[in-house]
Amino acid sequence: MGKKRCMTHLDTLRRMGLFDARVPRYTSYPPATAFTPAQGAHFQVSCLQSLDPATPVSVYIHIPFCERLCWFCACRTQGTRTLKPVAHYLEVVKDELALLRATLPADVVMGQMHWGGGTPTILPPEMIRDLAQAVKDVIPPAPDFSFSVEIDPTLVDDAKIAALAEMGMTRASIGIQDFARDVQEAIGRKQSFAQTRACVDSLRAAGITSLNADLVYGLPFQTAAKLAATIAKVRALDPDRIALFGYAHVPSFSKRQKLIPDAALPGEEDRYHLTRRAAAAFAGSGYEPIGIDHFAKPADSLAIAAKTGHLRRNFQGYTDDTCPTLIGIGASSISQFAQGYVQNASATAAYIERVTAGQLAGHRGYEMTAGDRLRATAINMLMCDFAIDLERLAQHAGAAELAPIHETILQDFAGMVVKDAGHIRITPAGRALTRIVAQRYDGFAGIAAQYSQAS
Ligand code: SF4
Repeated sequence: MGKKRCMTHLDTLRRMGLFDARVPRYTSYPPATAFTPAQGAHFQVSCLQSLDPATPVSVYIHIPFCERLCWFCACRTQGTRTLKPVAHYLEVVKDELALLRATLPADVVMGQMHWGGGTPTILPPEMIRDLAQAVKDVIPPAPDFSFSVEIDPTLVDDAKIAALAEMGMTRASIGIQDFARDVQEAIGRKQSFAQTRACVDSLRAAGITSLNADLVYGLPFQTAAKLAATIAKVRALDPDRIALFGYAHVPSFSKRQKLIPDAALPGEEDRYHLTRRAAAAFAGSGYEPIGIDHFAKPADSLAIAAKTGHLRRNFQGYTDDTCPTLIGIGASSISQFAQGYVQNASATAAYIERVTAGQLAGHRGYEMTAGDRLRATAINMLMCDFAIDLERLAQHAGAAELAPIHETILQDFAGMVVKDAGHIRITPAGRALTRIVAQRYDGFAGIAAQYSQAS
């Protein structure tokens, strides 16, 4: 695309709100900002008790501890130099598991398990085995069980990887962000390529064949040249999947981000160009784009799910997980049920207090209505397929209610959103606007919340 045409295209995107809009990431609908205390532990109990043992569940375990607190990160986590609070937390997680066991129907099995944080690899090998076994004792793994773990290459060693592999780890997600030294210094996260390479080699030696790499654009001092150099190094690591997340600078929400000077951040147009160049670099290396911010090798299960219309979105981002239920365990974890969502107490101290008192940890949530399911379906189709299949949407009661929204979108985003062959489709030129288009179907769009910028 020539520079003049590119400028015109950027102007169009700007006019449609790309650089001003603050929108949810739509890892759930409704977004977690709509959850209320009215759907807490009682709702959680009724959802858990109604699970069908014939359908495996997914399990997410949150480890809210890190040895280092990177300044860009808004995750719910706390820094610790000792394992004492971690060991105490794991005992409470085991108490939560016992409460779940007493509530779940017999014979519920686990199709997938994911450990995130925080830093799951802060756990030493014996704690890794203890925690994984405790979960399996309560929710036994299904025959095709898979287990993924977020790995910090600076806080992992062969013994930890061996313990994770022994407990069934099949996929590893490696945090990288950017390899440029000044970018790393500006976000308080130093991590050499050699360390990362050693981690990848160790994972592969342990038999882990599915690797994901997490990168971030929009970081301080990041330029197209530095990001290109990082991408070249990532390609040398040969991951199966890559996630390229946009840095959301919200220092009023995440105090650590105050350490990042506003002046060092790339401008809005620079952010846009960073994503475009990164996407082109991944495409040139044989990766297929998945949804708004992932890339995968053609034979990877995520790419296959995207091609066959089975891609889904959950709290970890894009997934090919087919389990309809996600049970979140640990502080701040969110469970997803057919009836709605329940989030555990967010602060680690509040979570510990609740579970120690013998209560399930759910403290707020949301019960879905038929109208919410309809809107969730439309938003999911846009986020995963860039198109709403009107015939599939019509299988939901009340689908006609969304017809005025379709029409308004076709007018407001003319050229970027079109109607063809029974679909409301975002064109390739309009894909940067996907979250903004999706927000038109969001019945909670008016509630006050601090969302990240759309670009
Ligand atoms: S990026 Fe990872 S290691 Fe750094 S603070 Fe966030 S969760 Fe902890």
